[in-house]
Amino acid sequence: MPRLEVLGLKAYYFTDGGIIRGVDGINFEISDGQSLGIVGESACGKSTLGAALMQSIQPPGRIVEGSITLGDDDITKMSSSEFDSKIRWKRIAMVFQGAMNALDPVYTVESQLREILIQHHFQDKKIDDKITESLQEVGLDVSIAKRYPHELSGGMKQRVVIAMALLLKPDVLIADEPTTALDMLVQSQIISLLKKLQKEKGITIILITHDLALVSQITDRIGIMYAGQLVEFSTTKDIYKNPRHPYTQALIEAIPRLSTKDKKIHFVKGSPPSLLSPPPGCRFQDRCAYAMDVCKRDPPEFETETGYVRCWLYEKSE
Ligand code: SF4
Repeated sequence: MPRLEVLGLKAYYFTDGGIIRGVDGINFEISDGQSLGIVGESACGKSTLGAALMQSIQPPGRIVEGSITLGDDDITKMSSSEFDSKIRWKRIAMVFQGAMNALDPVYTVESQLREILIQHHFQDKKIDDKITESLQEVGLDVSIAKRYPHELSGGMKQRVVIAMALLLKPDVLIADEPTTALDMLVQSQIISLLKKLQKEKGITIILITHDLALVSQITDRIGIMYAGQLVEFSTTKDIYKNPRHPYTQALIEAIPRLSTKDKKIHFVKGSPPSLLSPPPGCRFQDRCAYAMDVCKRDPPEFETETGYVRCWLYEKSE
């Protein structure tokens, strides 16, 4: 049975300028201890998806349809107080985009970790041990507990933020662009840390990123997101070896490869449609070299051996 199942999820923002369809009919499932990468360009709705999973979409946005089932609980049916008491940080935790800047500059690391534990009614005598354990878990020396955020490097701050998310031992950790603004070496250290946490603690990890090469290092499955929808969902191996959707193929082609003679930089031509007024039919059609008449109709999810692809090229003839 999948640990986390998302069915027909839609989350919209109701603005004065119209309805922004940030997440528009998303389906996927992920089992205990697996890892999933959600990959797409900026403003494709991937952070809205992460916020929907954490019940943290801010007005004028809200979930309008669909379900998010964690174990036996549909969390879209929970009130925010029920979600806060049963799920948030305890079963699903999130490292938000730009979280390094979320550390309070006037408090030490220890005070900030202590505050979370007090809020969640940890017994006083266990708090010091818990802080030590959580810092060690993310590879930090306990001495950094006494430091202020400005005394830490970018990589250390990101580890502290991950330690905070893991304080209450969640089953699912969502990391939204956890390596942005870090140099290559620190990026690879943070990815290794997430890999280790998944392997040793059995945590289900959802990594949200624009970087397809990065997710391949850690995830079992990948969902390719385009204009509010998942256009392909499959195993990481299959996405790399046999990308089906033309958008996935273009993303793979755009990954720079130092080992080949082709030094040309490839990119996905054109720009994504506005989520305020996406075109009817396939949302990739204006950028797709294979567009046909039928693409003016919305493609359904065509099943593949390892997932699905949302493209008319894969319609099976009866
Ligand atoms: Fe291209 Fe049509 Fe497939 Fe969309 S449905 S990706 S336009 S071939």
